[in-house]
Amino acid sequence: MTITRVGSLEDRLRALIRDVPDYPRPGILFKDITPLLGDGLAFREACEAMASPFHEYDVTHVAAIESRGFLFGAPIATLLGAGVVPVRKRGKLPYESHLEEYALEYGTDALEIHIDAVPPGARVLVVDDLLATGGTAAAACRLVERLEGRVVGCSFLIRLAFLDGLGKLEGHPAASVLTYGDSGSASS
Ligand code: AMP
Repeated sequence: MTITRVGSLEDRLRALIRDVPDYPRPGILFKDITPLLGDGLAFREACEAMASPFHEYDVTHVAAIESRGFLFGAPIATLLGAGVVPVRKRGKLPYESHLEEYALEYGTDALEIHIDAVPPGARVLVVDDLLATGGTAAAACRLVERLEGRVVGCSFLIRLAFLDGLGKLEGHPAASVLTYGDSGSASS
């Protein structure tokens, strides 16, 4: 079988991310990744690109953030030979959990993790589809650290540079495949 790749990976992935204005509320430019998820080659390459900076980090667990983080977290965990840990919205986990509240770009919410999700000293990669203000990923990092896991990095498909989410990650190594600038459209 011949696979034809046209253009750079970044250009091909950008072409599969759709801007939806004013969703889920006025003023938000929503990055809709469903076209990318539906393209088998692009999805695989996106997962590989999200995993690749962390191959040498001895990751033992991937903490995948509900819900779009689940879609990337599980394949990235298999690429890294790591386990996958669901970090879920409030009230979704069946067993005893820790909870961290956080502010979203739109509204507030809370994330939870099972109290035995990772052993102390686990080397954890936090994964989500998109870094905006950083509140969500920072809450996931705090949950891992409450279990005495070590956050060795954070990996995102998309980073919205104008919201400075990296500032909330307190020095954890962070990588994103695509960065969007302050217009909400592609930047360098
Ligand atoms: P934040 O906590 O502000 O970094 O928000 C990140 C979380 O909210 C991720 O789980 C994203 O899926 C979602 N999110 C925030 N802003 C957007 C956006 N403009 N487009 C798509 N998803 C977003």
